[in-house]
Amino acid sequence: MTDPRRRVPRTDTLLTDPRLAEAERTLGRTLVKSVIADAQQRARAGEIAPEHVADHAVAALPSAAVSLRPVINATGVVVHTNLGRAPLSRTAVDAVVTASGATDVEFDLATGRRARRGRGTLAALARAVPTAGGVHVVNNNAAALLLAAMTLAPGREIIVSRGELIEIGDGFRIPELLESTGARIREVGTTNRTHLRDYTDAIGRETGFILKVHPSNYYVSGFTSAVAVTDLAGLGVPLVVDIGSGLLTPHPVLPDEPDATTALRHGADLVTASGDKLLGGPQAGLLFGSAELIERLRRHPAARALRVDKLTLAALEATLVGPPTPVHLALTADVAALRVRAERLAAQLPGALVVDCVAAVGGGGAPDVGLPSAGISLPEPLAAALRAGTPPVVGRVEAGRCVLDLRTVAPDEDGRLLEAVAACM
Ligand SMILES: *Cc1c(COP(=O)(O)O)cnc(C)c1O
Repeated sequence: MTDPRRRVPRTDTLLTDPRLAEAERTLGRTLVKSVIADAQQRARAGEIAPEHVADHAVAALPSAAVSLRPVINATGVVVHTNLGRAPLSRTAVDAVVTASGATDVEFDLATGRRARRGRGTLAALARAVPTAGGVHVVNNNAAALLLAAMTLAPGREIIVSRGELIEIGDGFRIPELLESTGARIREVGTTNRTHLRDYTDAIGRETGFILKVHPSNYYVSGFTSAVAVTDLAGLGVPLVVDIGSGLLTPHPVLPDEPDATTALRHGADLVTASGDKLLGGPQAGLLFGSAELIERLRRHPAARALRVDKLTLAALEATLVGPPTPVHLALTADVAALRVRAERLAAQLPGALVVDCVAAVGGGGAPDVGLPSAGISLPEPLAAALRAGTPPVVGRVEAGRCVLDLRTVAPDEDGRLLEAVAACM
């Protein structure tokens, strides 16, 4: 018997297979060669026949030169941080593609001179929050807070309530982030109660600003009290409000969620927010304030290190001016319509049950809000198989069942969801 290793086709021979040659053009040589190497290895180990190496390599080719895979979010968590937070709208994706080549992000085509970077996006943001005298965009909300601390409180104190010293996830803590700039945190009040006099007693020559943080990923209930933005405004020191979620105006489904317009109207000097939570856009940090204050932030030397790229600017503008975002559609979807979709899916999947369930806002937003929802319930062992499928489907394991919550699945994804589930059953 001949040694199977001798008969495994060589890499350069395999690269002449038209399918692999085409993949080399679209995905790149490195990636295709690594896929070929895996198939050759399996042939040497006797797992596949040498004459099938090319077929196995073709089957193992990724659809794109990126290890990230598109996933169907059936978790019922609308803004799922581990699944990339807000999914972009089709309009925003198109805008990213438009801006991906050479583009006039910082160039005036009429004069042929340099122009203000991202001016169209900034204008759209300013139109969306007319109460703001100025707007600025950085990499994320953490960067927005960093810029505020570096500009307004270098070597000075930031006054924060003990009830608002929050950890935002993966071990990142807002107080530590702020202290990394050299500012000092002046904690006031207690975990459950902070009063206006706690703030006024702390104000002094060392004060850089008062920071009010929306404790978006938890809530304290019972014997509590916090000081409203209106009461913290006008104390003679700047008031920075981190609203977290990124709502620009009040949201009908989330009446308790803070928004930029209201915070400014109530007297905040500076508002910071994320772009990829409830706003439904790309990762970004949004800053709203007076024109003078925003200009100071923009002129800080470190601002350059926090600036966003053209793809983010494009996606953000399209999110602001375009049709309702997937996040907005998920938050406002009618539960009766979700149930109809669940029934239609279950009818085609033997063993699937239609269930009422409760979806969540997520992304560190409105932890106390449950959104009535509907989905299908499957045997629990399917959860792992669904995650391993193509496309991967991520559901929620609840009371020994795998629940696929349709509130976070766009209606036009139902077909793919059905195929993915059917393939696992
Ligand atoms: C999410 C959140 C942040 C962090 O925002 P990133 O955009 O992820 O940097 C900061 N503050 C609050 C209140 C948040 O909810």
